[in-house]
Amino acid sequence: MRLQRPKSARGSGAKSARRDDSRAAAELIPPSATLPILQRASRTCKACDLWRNATQTVFGEGPSPARVMFVGEQPGDYEDRAGHPFVGPAGRLLDDVLREVSIDRSQVYVTDVVKHFKWEAAQRGKRRIHKKPRQSEIEACRPWLDAELQVVRPEVLVCLGASAAQALLGEQQRRVFVNDLKKVAELIRKRQNVAA
Ligand code: SF4
Repeated sequence: MRLQRPKSARGSGAKSARRDDSRAAAELIPPSATLPILQRASRTCKACDLWRNATQTVFGEGPSPARVMFVGEQPGDYEDRAGHPFVGPAGRLLDDVLREVSIDRSQVYVTDVVKHFKWEAAQRGKRRIHKKPRQSEIEACRPWLDAELQVVRPEVLVCLGASAAQALLGEQQRRVFVNDLKKVAELIRKRQNVAA
């Protein structure tokens, strides 16, 4: 699946999120890389500053190829600690929806447009509050998502939230932009009926 990238992703936008001593994400991606290779390579990524305050890179997980790919915005607090995508409250909701339509979570690929958790400290207590990634950070991370798309080759791409939808805007093939996870069940059910 080939996605059209936003113009700013090709220009100075991605560079603005990058430190001089870092390598662009694209430079870390070996040609014809498999998912395990991509996952390993992403652990060293410092293409924007988000790695600094995060525990670890949270790369996508699931089979390749996969018929359905879910793309969220970024890992949350739970995901950052666990090192796996969609294991927190959003992940549990996703599991519920998939169960509702009799799809095993192991059959779908789940990932985020940004692979490190962006957060700020709560004014009181030790909570880490989710902070929306900047466009330049989304663009810096885009090569990882592009590489996942090339390997996973999903038939259905489900964007969970505005950031994921914006990141993938311009994609010319099948695409589904969803803000409400409940709608996902309906969409997958329709796809299943079409394929049956
Ligand atoms: S958010 Fe993406 S581009 Fe930025 S350091 Fe993490 S993996 Fe690299």
